[in-house]
Amino acid sequence: MTLLIEHVLLVTLNDQNQIIGDGALVVDGRRLSYVGPSAKAPSGSFDRVIDGSRFIAIPGLVNAHCHSPANLFRGLFAASPLEIWRIYWRAALRPMTGEDFYASALLGAMEMLKTGATTVLDHFFGNQAVPFMGAGEAIRAMRDIGLRHVVALTIADKSLEETVPLEKPAAGLLPDIRRMSRSETREGRAWLEECESFISEHHDPEKMTTCCPGPSGVQRCTDGLLKGAAEIARRMRLPLHMHLAETKSQKVMGRRLYGTSLLRHLESIGALGPNLSLAHSIWIEESDVELFAGSGATAVHNPASNLRLGSGLAPLPQFLAAGVHVALGTDGATSNDGQNMFDAIRLATLIHNPRSADFKKWTTPPQALRMATREGARALGLEAGMLAPGKLADLVLLRSDTPAFTPLNNVLHQLALCENGSSVDTVIVDGEVVVEGGRLAKMREEEVLGLAAGSLKRLRPGIEQEIEASRALEPALAEMYFRVARES
Ligand SMILES: [Zn+2]
Repeated sequence: MTLLIEHVLLVTLNDQNQIIGDGALVVDGRRLSYVGPSAKAPSGSFDRVIDGSRFIAIPGLVNAHCHSPANLFRGLFAASPLEIWRIYWRAALRPMTGEDFYASALLGAMEMLKTGATTVLDHFFGNQAVPFMGAGEAIRAMRDIGLRHVVALTIADKSLEETVPLEKPAAGLLPDIRRMSRSETREGRAWLEECESFISEHHDPEKMTTCCPGPSGVQRCTDGLLKGAAEIARRMRLPLHMHLAETKSQKVMGRRLYGTSLLRHLESIGALGPNLSLAHSIWIEESDVELFAGSGATAVHNPASNLRLGSGLAPLPQFLAAGVHVALGTDGATSNDGQNMFDAIRLATLIHNPRSADFKKWTTPPQALRMATREGARALGLEAGMLAPGKLADLVLLRSDTPAFTPLNNVLHQLALCENGSSVDTVIVDGEVVVEGGRLAKMREEEVLGLAAGSLKRLRPGIEQEIEASRALEPALAEMYFRVARES
């Protein structure tokens, strides 16, 4: 299909950060073939022409970290520290079936597309009783609805008590600890084989699917598993994704296990490189910031989740000053409770200011917008994230006749600070229109909502039971949390 969009306000986020007042875009198949002034747009016949005079065009947003099975559980969990929250959220996954993973991924994908995201990294963990834990169902959902996706299969091979700095747990708790560990882990070799067959069965960039390994976190995996995952990614030229240093207790556990920081440990086993993206990267030691920047790896900042779980704030001003690549994510809906990337952009721009006395280092709206677009695309190895000829045709048209853009004083500031996704009119992914007039084009929204509501209704009794059965672990984890919080 060829498509011309003319007379549009173009926010390219290209290398020159060009903004073109009366711009035009040509989509030719899956890629952009022209980006520039309307007056110089190629003539000829197009399958479709869109008058863009009411619109602002931006590259599609890239949500660089979330967990699609969480979408069914938005608003369900009380705020609590990650280690406690996690026992309940992981418990909620246990009764889920393939159709629930499909419904949950559809629900999040719908929210993302309607609020301007065109790509997501789904750090997928589901239910080990379902093939590939349900990741194949999430892929089917995202293809059906038209969202580009990178699915990182979450793997871990250490039991809970080896990964959290608990006091010696009471003998009575051991069955609960083992039960949680069993549902999350597998022997390392089995996981690596699972990853390879997942990739060979589902990886297909032509269908907008990238598959890759996604170790759960450094301290949750043996070195053998981390090295094996890094080797698969390197050999197959794929991204590698994992959580890093999300909480203080993870930092403390890293020191206990390795005698060094989690980031240095990744370096020492050869896993640190430009294809690696590290969700959160909050408890990074000051002396590691240069190492981070030099490695070419990406920190994925998830501001809403970090506030929701009280995890801490990533050292964003230091990262940016040192040249660390930073992308943005929403994280899962159990710690956010939505999937709206404009929310992440606004928070990333604002929340670091009170901690940084040097106002000249405060995050600017253009920086946050670049994190949410080209930096995310770079981290995932995609030729997207900016409006430029040759790039993938992933873009968003926002209405300019909305409160967010009226009056139009500074389009970059207003994109980052005023927009909440409600101005999104048209979304194009891989050259195909998937949202038009603010509504999904490839599926009925009522169907998506109906599937999600039906899933939760069916799941509710099982989830309540699993959550109840997990309560026994909370006091030991709370003790650990307060003890670690007091450590300097
Ligand atoms: Zn996460």
